[in-house]
Amino acid sequence: KADSAMYQAKKEGRNNFQFFDTTLDIKAHSILELENELRKALDRNEFILHYQPIMDLSRNQFSGVETLIRWEHPFMGRVPPDKFIPIAEETGIIVPIGEWILRTACQQLISWEKRGCYVPNISVNISIRQFYQPQLVSMISNILSETGVAPERLTIEITESMTMDVKSASKILFDLKSLGVNISIDDFGTGYSSLSYLKTFPIDFLKVDQSFIRDIEKGKDDKNIVTTIVSMGHNLGLSVIAEGVETEEQLKFIRQLRCSKAQGYLFSKPLTEQDLIQFLKKSSVYLV
Ligand code: C2E
Ligand code: MG
Ligand code: MG
Ligand code: MG
Repeated sequence: KADSAMYQAKKEGRNNFQFFDTTLDIKAHSILELENELRKALDRNEFILHYQPIMDLSRNQFSGVETLIRWEHPFMGRVPPDKFIPIAEETGIIVPIGEWILRTACQQLISWEKRGCYVPNISVNISIRQFYQPQLVSMISNILSETGVAPERLTIEITESMTMDVKSASKILFDLKSLGVNISIDDFGTGYSSLSYLKTFPIDFLKVDQSFIRDIEKGKDDKNIVTTIVSMGHNLGLSVIAEGVETEEQLKFIRQLRCSKAQGYLFSKPLTEQDLIQFLKKSSVYLV
């Protein structure tokens, strides 16, 4: 609550800070500090990408990775993405950061390959501000040709809330699709998108939010919810990916529902580029 009050105050002008009590003032200071530090983070090379394996359940093999950003600040330590992505969004700093993420991920795919590790597909999360940047499609297209990554090896992850403006979202999605990249709806089930439009968008994958997977073991009602979400995805003609799979029981259950892919701590936590190579070596079938 304090944080959102702060954003409001910030929008109304910095002078408003003087009206807050000390606690809020300290918090405001730290958000502003976070914002200032965020502006310098890219130049100072403080970001690092981690990669979480995604498994193909029908073939029982590794099918790719999701790129997840990490911010290692020299004094604040590791700042979680849930904490800094919203600030990067609010301030627009997400635009250069987002471009850096896409380029680094694509370069990484090629770099692994040169070291004998074939990663079939790489997913990149796009934030809403980035999604509605007029240069999004040309930026992605340039990065693909610059790095030599085949478009079908890149997956763009968006969330349901980004598709609220149906007309604009539809145009962007069709433009993206014409590049040849894959499109995935992240955190499915937690947003408010219209199901009828989801059917008309050129979407390849739905990722069932981890909150639903987590609750599978809680009981029959929760199992029913997951069953409904997965069959909804299938009825929309999409492949379904379960995220946040942590236990064998959860895996068994989503297998029964014919989820095509899964991702979660049961298989692996997000890994550094080096650790991903180790992960692939342990399962030698995945090597080139
Ligand atoms: P997301 O895209 O839905 O990413 C999945 C999150 O679930 C990641 O958290 C991942 O580490 C975590 N996770 C994966 N498997 C498990 C599991 O089995 N159990 C549990 N408890 N968690 C699991 P992370 O890395 O903290 O990222 C959080 C969110 O921050 C992401 O949600 C995404 O919305 C955003 N984010 C992360 N990296 C990026 C990025 O590069 N760009 C943008 N725009 N957003 C990002
Ligand atoms: Mg994601
Ligand atoms: Mg997700
Ligand atoms: Mg999420």
